Amino acid sequence: MMNPRNDSLSHIHSHVVHVPWPPMVTGVAATLAVLLHELESSQWLSHEVILQKQLEQLSLLVNYAAQYSPYFKAKCEQMGARTKNIATLEDLRQLPILMRSDIQQAGESLHCTEVPKTHMPWVEAKSSGSTGEPVVVRKSNINGLLWQANMMREHFWHQRDFRGSLLVIRNSVSEPVQQDGWGPPVNVLYKSGRTMGLPILTNMDELLKAILDFKPEHINIYPSTLDALINHCQKQGVTIDCIKHIWAFSENLTPPVRQRAKDFFGASVEDDYSSNELGIIALQCPVSGLYHVMAETVLLEVLDAAGNPCAPGEIGRVVATSLHNFAAPLIRYDTGDYAQVGPLCPCGRGLPTLQSIKGRTRNMVTWPDGTKYWPLIGYQQYSAVAPITQFQFIQHDLQHIEARLVVTSELTLEQESALCSIVHKSLGYPFTIRFSYFQGRIPTGKNGKFEEFISMIA
Ligand SMILES: [Zn+2]
Repeated sequence: MMNPRNDSLSHIHSHVVHVPWPPMVTGVAATLAVLLHELESSQWLSHEVILQKQLEQLSLLVNYAAQYSPYFKAKCEQMGARTKNIATLEDLRQLPILMRSDIQQAGESLHCTEVPKTHMPWVEAKSSGSTGEPVVVRKSNINGLLWQANMMREHFWHQRDFRGSLLVIRNSVSEPVQQDGWGPPVNVLYKSGRTMGLPILTNMDELLKAILDFKPEHINIYPSTLDALINHCQKQGVTIDCIKHIWAFSENLTPPVRQRAKDFFGASVEDDYSSNELGIIALQCPVSGLYHVMAETVLLEVLDAAGNPCAPGEIGRVVATSLHNFAAPLIRYDTGDYAQVGPLCPCGRGLPTLQSIKGRTRNMVTWPDGTKYWPLIGYQQYSAVAPITQFQFIQHDLQHIEARLVVTSELTLEQESALCSIVHKSLGYPFTIRFSYFQGRIPTGKNGKFEEFISMIA
């Protein structure tokens, strides 16, 4: 099967004066172009060949880390783990797991005392402190290039037209801004349309006005903001038909929000799974909707409670190895996330899949008997019984759940009671529910991320 944008590299803009055709690129753009060409073909390799290539790369990485990372060396010696000639997944599984707390404690000793010259320079990647365990790790220039290549892959897979305008709403934008072009990596290779950036705290009136004025074809948005925008538009009786691609990021995009966005905007809704430490971990397949692991850059394990690999359909914790980070070995790094293993994808790509990304342990409800459970939280059911525009559940202890709500009119006792019944069913236990009401929006965490369910139980 051919990638519909397989010819995309023939439209790159030339870097050489007076030579528009055939286009020629130099420097970083040339490296990126070659990398994209490689990724275009590697995605179609068989599952077995991809795994073999990953293991060859892994063996080099483990051997290097055992030599240059004092932390990794000591830890492997202490566990009696073999670091030479890693050739199978069993070989990988005898290596130590790297927890976030290990990274914090290891400090400088995690980092390699030498980084290959061609991988330089390194930069620091700070991961969000959403688990209360912020970490800082080094990433090399090679990791940066691979991140950019995977970002381009995401654009190609979803056939985003770079000539169209882009609206970006995110935490890192401090005030409204407009610029020509989409910024790197797109404008390294292509001419692109205008971009508008808005801060995450932009109120819904302003956001709607910006969309109606700017008419973006693409929007890059947090799922919770997307959901609030749809509510606002519906309340105002406004329809928006300019948006063709909605490109969600950062928070977990739930099936109900995805469906609402698809129905309301008539747009393609596209998701990815990424982190600052690892770059893009998985991208949603344009054919099946499964999440393809970026196997050229990351070797992903999904493990059950006993540390054994999960079978397709099972949910486990995501343990990732960044295959090209020779500045800080993120080998068997426990991301703190949970995901459901997917089957081989019908699209024909050999890249492994995840069925869904579940979030973190703190997004699981705990029943009084200690069982942890992924709550089924469905907006449609709630809005059918009460005028709710936003909700969030906080589990404070084994008996009590706080339901935080934003409503358009005060709920009656009957509505609260009807809501309780649905919540009990969704959470799988008749918790005592306390209602708290908020004006406008429910505040997000320090990192700007909104989570529908948060457990305060350690
Ligand atoms: Zn696929």
